[in-house]
Amino acid sequence: MTSLPAIFVSHGSPMLVLDDVPARDFLASLGATLPRPRAIVVVSAHYETEGVRVVTDARPRVIHDFHGFPKALYEMRYDAPGDPELAAHIIARLTDAGLEAQGDDRWGFDHGVWVPLMLMYPEADIPVVAVSIDTAAGPEHHRRLGAALAPLREDDVLILGSGSLTHNLGELQRDGSEALGAADWVTRFVDWTADAIREGRTDDLLQYRRRAPDAARNHPTEEHFLPIFAALGAGGEGKGRRLHASTTFSVLAMDAYAFG
Ligand code: ZN
Repeated sequence: MTSLPAIFVSHGSPMLVLDDVPARDFLASLGATLPRPRAIVVVSAHYETEGVRVVTDARPRVIHDFHGFPKALYEMRYDAPGDPELAAHIIARLTDAGLEAQGDDRWGFDHGVWVPLMLMYPEADIPVVAVSIDTAAGPEHHRRLGAALAPLREDDVLILGSGSLTHNLGELQRDGSEALGAADWVTRFVDWTADAIREGRTDDLLQYRRRAPDAARNHPTEEHFLPIFAALGAGGEGKGRRLHASTTFSVLAMDAYAFG
């Protein structure tokens, strides 16, 4: 019996659930390639808190945390149950690892959670626990968070980091983006990251802000890259495998990785 890998996915724009792009097809096929988990823990770029927060609700609400999109997106539901028992277990594990972690009964499933899960597991019949990021705490904090959750993989829990391999919304190209392809400065960062993950250069990845080409341009703020460190830590910090690579809007790299 092999344990589940930890996965990082790029969730893209909320429109991903409607847009016909390769990243959508990839996510729609990803669930079926994995052993069925008994629960899913999602570390989402859109759940930003100070310290770690863990959603404890048995029926978490669906949050439409975006503005100016078509009405159909605001009507989307993802009615997966929560898992209060697993949430409590996660809080205990994180606390044992020296991280400040608390339950949260206010948050639910933001679109960093439900966009990829709606494609991966459309039946919404697997319990989901959302875990926050703490952007100010940086990459090492999120590696430790992931490492503390790594043993859950042996218990058929899928650890999913949901962010974006690159995320500069200020340079988004909405017109003719597919024909344009990826911008050079996006490709340089994507390729550097792919090499570092394939070669298992964890220290370089943790120091990506100083070592990766065009790091600050690809991530003006860090929150969308940090979930990859949770997946890396949960996977045991070895070499990762690239599961998918594509770009939308010329600057949003949609790459996905498996660790462990
Ligand atoms: Zn996002």
